[in-house]
Amino acid sequence: MSSNTFYIKTFGCQQNLADSQRIASYYKSRGYKPSKTMKDASEVVINTCMIRQSAEDRVTGLVKNIAKSAKWREKTKPKIVVSGCMVGMAVRDETGKYLKALQKRMPEVDEFLPLEEVGFDYPALRQDVSHSWVPISNGCNNFCTFCVVPFTRGREISRPFKDVIEEIEELAKKGCYEVTLLGQNVNSYGADLVKNSKGLPAGRQGYKLPNGKTVKPVMVKHLGKYRIPTLFPYLLDEVCKIKGIKTVKFISSNPWDFSDQLISVIAKNPKIDRNLHLAVQSGDDEVLKRMNRWYTQEEYINLIRKIKTKIPNVQISTDIIVGFPGETEEQFQSTVKLAKEVNFAYAYVSKYSDRPTTAAHKAFRDDISHAEKERRWIILNNLINRKGTPRTAVH
Ligand code: SF4
Repeated sequence: MSSNTFYIKTFGCQQNLADSQRIASYYKSRGYKPSKTMKDASEVVINTCMIRQSAEDRVTGLVKNIAKSAKWREKTKPKIVVSGCMVGMAVRDETGKYLKALQKRMPEVDEFLPLEEVGFDYPALRQDVSHSWVPISNGCNNFCTFCVVPFTRGREISRPFKDVIEEIEELAKKGCYEVTLLGQNVNSYGADLVKNSKGLPAGRQGYKLPNGKTVKPVMVKHLGKYRIPTLFPYLLDEVCKIKGIKTVKFISSNPWDFSDQLISVIAKNPKIDRNLHLAVQSGDDEVLKRMNRWYTQEEYINLIRKIKTKIPNVQISTDIIVGFPGETEEQFQSTVKLAKEVNFAYAYVSKYSDRPTTAAHKAFRDDISHAEKERRWIILNNLINRKGTPRTAVH
C-alpha cells in the first residue's frame, strides 16, 4: 500500500460522479495521489447513494469487504472514508440518530466526510474533459414524497451564474465539446440567486448576467401559481454561445417547471441535445398527488405535445416508479396508457423502495408485494425499453 494515496468508489447518479471529481481534487490539494486500484490505496472514499435500500446495502457490503480483505492479506486496513448521500442525511438529522445508526452498522468506517466540507471551491478533477458534467445547483425544494434527496442534499442552492459560465469556458479551452448541466431540478436554477431586500425570491426584479445584460427571471409554476423565478433558460442560452461547445445536455428537469421560455431556447439552439428527460413517475392523477408531483396526467401529455410541436426530432425519456404504496392495477394501467401515448425513447423504471424520513415512509404502508412490483416493472420495461434496459434512475 502506498502512503497518501486515495481511491474513490462512486455509487448512484451523475451528480454523485461529478461530486467525486471534486472530492478527488480535495484530496489532491492535500498532497494525496490517486491510486489505480482500491487495494493499493491508503484511503478509500466511498461516495454513497440512498435512492434505494439496495444502494445502501451495497455500501455496507463494500465497507465490510474492504476490512475483511485487508485482514486476510495481513495488511493494514486502508482508512475508510464514507461521503455522499448517507453522510448528507446524517449531517441534516439533528437528533444524531442516523449518524449513530451508521456508526453501528459500519464500525469499520474511519471518517464520515460531508460534501459540504468539499464544497464547490475545488475544481473538478476530470480524467477526460471532452464530455464534462458541470453541476449548476445542489439539493432540492420539491419534497416528492418518495424521495430522500431533500434530506440527503438539503435545500436547493444554485452556483453563481458567472462561476458556471467561467468553468465551461475553461473546459472548452481544454478541449471540452460536450457539457451536461447537472442539478436535481435544473429548471428552477437561480431561484435563490434572485432575491429581494428581505432575502426572499422576487420574480419581477432584473438579474444582471455576467455579460452585463439585465434580464427578467422566468416565472414557473409552483403549486399552480407562477411563483418560482428561474434563470435556467438564460443560463442554457449563454452556455450554447461558448465557443468550442458543440453539445449541451441537462438533467434533471421536472415537468411542472418546464417553461415556454425553456422550450423556445431549446428550439432555437441546435447545440442542445434533442433527448429530453422528463420524469413522469406515474400516469395516474391520484398517485401523482400522493407522490406530491404537481401535474396531472393530462398536463404531462399536453406538455409533451407542446415540446414535440416546437422542437422537431425531439425524443422524450423518463423515470417511472411502479408499486408506489396503494397503487392499484387500474392506476398502474393509467401509467401503461400514458407510456403508450407518449412513446418514450426509454425509461428508468424502478420498483418503489421505502426510504427513511420521507413523507411516503411516514404516511403510507409499502403494501405492494415484491412479486407484484416485479410484474409491473417487467410490463413497463418490455413496453418502453425494447432496445435494452437502462441501468439506473437519474435521481
Ligand atoms: S424526485 Fe427529484 S424533484 Fe422530487 S424531491 Fe427528489 S430530487 Fe427533488
